[in-house]
Amino acid sequence: MTARSIGMRVLPRACRDAARGVRDSSMVVRLLSAVPARGCAILRYHSINDDRGWVGDYLRASIVVTPASFEEHVRYLRRHFEIVPIGRIIELLANGQTPDHRWVALTFDDGYEDNYRVALPILRKHGATAAFYITTACVSDETILWGVRLRHAIRNTERTSLACPSLGHHPVDLSTEESRDRATHWITGLVKSRRKTEADELLDEVFDECGVPVGRISHRIMMSWDEIREMRDAGMTIGAHTVNHYNLTCLDDSDVTAEVKVSKEAIEAALGERVDHFAYPNGRTDKHCDARVAGIVAKAGFKSAVTSINGPAGSRFSPYGVPRVGVATRRTGIARFAADLQYTRLKKVVSSSIAEIGASGHGAGRAGRRGSTECR
Ligand SMILES: [Zn+2]
Repeated sequence: MTARSIGMRVLPRACRDAARGVRDSSMVVRLLSAVPARGCAILRYHSINDDRGWVGDYLRASIVVTPASFEEHVRYLRRHFEIVPIGRIIELLANGQTPDHRWVALTFDDGYEDNYRVALPILRKHGATAAFYITTACVSDETILWGVRLRHAIRNTERTSLACPSLGHHPVDLSTEESRDRATHWITGLVKSRRKTEADELLDEVFDECGVPVGRISHRIMMSWDEIREMRDAGMTIGAHTVNHYNLTCLDDSDVTAEVKVSKEAIEAALGERVDHFAYPNGRTDKHCDARVAGIVAKAGFKSAVTSINGPAGSRFSPYGVPRVGVATRRTGIARFAADLQYTRLKKVVSSSIAEIGASGHGAGRAGRRGSTECR
């Protein structure tokens, strides 16, 4: 899919400029497909980094954008969109309104330290703002984010296969870099599909088997509270992303409530102000939000919850089921391919998770209706 094949003649000037001037085709195609001449998009980033060893050992490449690409994105957005705080989009959507031109909000999930060290200076340089959703147990690496620790342990273990009860009876091949990536992807999916205690048990078994101590993690992964406060002081929005980054749809009501409320309270205590916005974790391989979870988020006092479901934001969505546009990685062939897939996905019927949360209501009335969800 190229800008030409979308139909250059019918594209507005902003789109033609974008197709010519911005080399990150992934970004362009997604934005072209996501936002009409009047409308909103919420972009979803994770890490902005080009440090050696960061991609692969700690994070999968698909959630890391280089600083140079990110700055190109911000420049492009400044030219063709109004970059607004997430709260303005939520307020607009809650009132059933549409902006009179293109609005975009930038959001970052998890709370990586490069958000402060790399993304913040770029945002400030261009007078832009963004929202940062923090996984509170992982601030300053007090707990290593489980997905990062899992990737690091599997990449660095001396074992060439892995066997433990939670993974079933067949050993998992770790003999090549590719098989380690496959194993990481597979085990990540398993963790996301299990209840809290079972997920913890599985992770503990895998970490024990891998035998890679946390102390071998050589980077600081997450921002500190001081850095988060400085982000807030620079005009950034700080939101919550749970305490431990479990898949909330697999947790029972009391665990969801704890993950949601405690993360809100921790940030409020650190910042001395109200936290209104939430992002559901773990959108990639499993259903990560539903009406039950949305109800608990609403009841905890949040004004909004963004998802990892791809699509433009519009007033037909509940403020507790807001789609975003995931920003993929570099300017490679595979990124373009991913963008084409993204474009196709955006044209599909909206995700059942979002439909379940509801267009006008926020699912609060449904909170607690089910004691737990079956994830397997
Ligand atoms: Zn996350």
